[in-house]
Amino acid sequence: MKSTCPYCGVGCGVEIATDGQGGCRIAGDATHPANFGRLCVKGAALGETLGHAGRLLSPQVDGVRSSWSQALDTVAQRLNAVIREHGPQAVAFYASGQLLTEDYYVANKLMKGFLGVANIDTNSRLCMASAVVGYKRALGADAVPCCYEDFAQADLVVLAGSNTAWAHPVAWQRLVQAKQAKPEMKVVVIDPRRTATCDGADLHLPLRPGSDAALFSGLLHWLDLHQGVDTTMLPHLNGVEETLLAAAEWPLARVAEFCRLPPEDVERFYTLFLNSPQALTLYCMGINQSASGSDKCNAIINVHLASGRIGRAGSGPFSLTGQPNAMGGREVGGLANQLAAHMDFTPQNVDRLQRFWQSPQVADRPGLKAVELFQAVARGEIKAIWIMGTNPAVSLPDGLAVADALRRCPLTIVSDVTAQTDTAALAHILLPAQGWGEKNGTVTNSERRISRQRGFVPPAGEARPDWWILAQVAQRLGFQAAFNWNHPAAIFREHAALSGFENEGSRAFDISGLASLSDDGWDRMSPLQWPVNTRYPAGCARLFSDRQFYHPDGKARLIPLTPRLPSSRPSRAYPFTLNTGRIRDQWHTMTRTGSVPRLMQHYSEPFGELHPLDAGRNGIAEGDLMRVQSASGWMICRAHLSEAQMPGSLFIPMHWNSQYASHGKVDALVAAEVCPLSGQPESKQTAVRIGRWQPDWQGTLYVREGVVTGEGGPLWWVRIPEGEVTRYLVAGKGDPASWLAQQGVTSGLMLQTAGAGEDFYHLLGWRSGQLDLAFFSGARPAVAREAVLAAFSDPPATAQQRFALLSGRASAGCATGRTVCSCFGVGENQINEAIATGCDSTEALGVRLKCGTNCGSCLPELSRLIALARTAA
Ligand code: SF4
Repeated sequence: MKSTCPYCGVGCGVEIATDGQGGCRIAGDATHPANFGRLCVKGAALGETLGHAGRLLSPQVDGVRSSWSQALDTVAQRLNAVIREHGPQAVAFYASGQLLTEDYYVANKLMKGFLGVANIDTNSRLCMASAVVGYKRALGADAVPCCYEDFAQADLVVLAGSNTAWAHPVAWQRLVQAKQAKPEMKVVVIDPRRTATCDGADLHLPLRPGSDAALFSGLLHWLDLHQGVDTTMLPHLNGVEETLLAAAEWPLARVAEFCRLPPEDVERFYTLFLNSPQALTLYCMGINQSASGSDKCNAIINVHLASGRIGRAGSGPFSLTGQPNAMGGREVGGLANQLAAHMDFTPQNVDRLQRFWQSPQVADRPGLKAVELFQAVARGEIKAIWIMGTNPAVSLPDGLAVADALRRCPLTIVSDVTAQTDTAALAHILLPAQGWGEKNGTVTNSERRISRQRGFVPPAGEARPDWWILAQVAQRLGFQAAFNWNHPAAIFREHAALSGFENEGSRAFDISGLASLSDDGWDRMSPLQWPVNTRYPAGCARLFSDRQFYHPDGKARLIPLTPRLPSSRPSRAYPFTLNTGRIRDQWHTMTRTGSVPRLMQHYSEPFGELHPLDAGRNGIAEGDLMRVQSASGWMICRAHLSEAQMPGSLFIPMHWNSQYASHGKVDALVAAEVCPLSGQPESKQTAVRIGRWQPDWQGTLYVREGVVTGEGGPLWWVRIPEGEVTRYLVAGKGDPASWLAQQGVTSGLMLQTAGAGEDFYHLLGWRSGQLDLAFFSGARPAVAREAVLAAFSDPPATAQQRFALLSGRASAGCATGRTVCSCFGVGENQINEAIATGCDSTEALGVRLKCGTNCGSCLPELSRLIALARTAA
């Protein structure tokens, strides 16, 4: 069976072979046009996420297990009570780019068409809302012009604010392959950090954080000065004169000074662009997540429009979406400032939608965007919120305030697959939703390609599809006829029909060609790119090749810009700029990937990457615990020193949360500054200060059962699932022996200890000859993880062997180090040893250790380790 990976906007196809006993083998779908068989490490590990551990299995009302009918009745009754007393504007939905398009459509229809307000927003606001504004302002439609095939056709690929190698690994591999096939192709990376994406780039521009709009405005001016403006494009553009005038404020020397780049590097980039007939710019969170994110997007699009590098093979401004179905959410209108199906809130659109839906009232103005929505919850204006498949208590800026707002909200409903999340812990009503592999529907990837997700395993417990849950509640609210579907294909047909309703070429999103698909046809649907209509019955790879745009006059618009620096600036009190982002093996708030042991080995704990000079000045050494503080909150993470980090800046991943670490939520630090046009938060630049956090002791605890809590004194902990065993990294005050006793995890065990106090304390706990607990003090314990886990599964038989484990001698020679290749579990120590003994290429490492020979996600790190060894030699 074929399906689609649920993790990122690349939208890779997967092929599933079930074994009939609940197990399955998952491989890349060689026929899917997004990936042609490739998968990254997250996609390759999908089969390991199908278990029911940690799943929400039944509805719960006020902490008590409930039947579906009771839970749905309660949701409807309580929503009705809020609407009666405070009006529909006191109700809000917060949805997610993980929902399928069919789910999204029902949520949007219920809120905007039947409750009559537009208070539905989504976590896609955090991901690509600025990209939407950029496209709409310039092209008249939220329509990505490009496709992945363009990688192979480009002369120049510019990656701006995107660590593609880690965040969109299969897209990155396609790019690497394209460059191998066409060595003259140039790749330029624009990013304050030297990331894995810089591996193999021809030019890296480590610009001052947040200065991208000036760099692209300067490029526009450079093109203007050097005959780089396409005169045949001018009749198709508005705003040319004023935009070129604004760009003229940015001569090369000023750009170099403002962006803190060497002028010769800026000139090299500009010359490459000028001399590349086919140029593609890929951009992502580094551009979008900014208080001026929309302007940054338009600075990029301006350059492509003015130079005519759009609408033809190998060219265009290409926004990469972070989530698997952020694009599907955009199509149905799941953002608070969209109405539905690429319609906004004009009276004509409101009337059109009311006639199509035959609804009592359609929202006639935009609703609250994510950040302001949760601020309205905090002020008590929103009395009921329904959160679907997302974890805003972790992922929204000013996370502590968001959690506090939810704690005080009179009615919080959460539908999700996961039982324990920071957000679910605050809910009054929990509704179990079907997860990947169980549910059926469609998703749309970054290149507008609609693909099917298909169910192939039975739902966990009483989990139900999101569309069904929403429709059941809508029916109980009195809207039976409009929410009476019995199959997701029927919802898709309605969605497709709406896209074509009174469209006549006025709206880019048009899949009316799919409105009459049978259930069977929907089920068998092959991936295809919208629009799908009478003009493009088989879909369309590239938009705007006819230079017809979606503004009423058919022209595109250049947008005059005034580049601005981030709202949050370093100061004496907060001298560092914090950048947040993704790491290679984790996804969102770890709700799926956190349960897969091999995905937890690449990076197992929250870390902060900083330049060695900054570390030295602040008394911080590699591996120290570090307290990071902003005006909004603080966290603790492990310091990693790296010259890839610009002095004065700091990078911390956004994944960790209260389920996996005691003080690991980086969004607690990010201020609620947003782009005034898109409402997208400025998650990439927060002013912070740093300092060493000095506990009395550190250690590693392995337990077969039981959980670590904050009981027994101040404690920092990180939880790392290891299958049957849980590993905790812990640090605290006092001494570890007292802390372990207070935790109660040793009761009933036969204990074996070595050492005393915080300097050296090892403890093993045995039950019936089986190892049930192990503790080793030290930030870097003397006993390798591999040796401890082996002892849990195969207990040492003799007293000498047990003592060897206790003392640390058992682990000699088996410490592989931090995992670099997650597919084959190859660690940094093994790789360094292989390099030292003659492996001087990624290919040679692959032959010796197999690393890098499956999904290829680790290839940039293998190259970096080889380069480091060369430098050291
Ligand atoms: Fe999934 Fe990886 Fe493909 Fe993204 S790149 S869709 S995470 S397999």
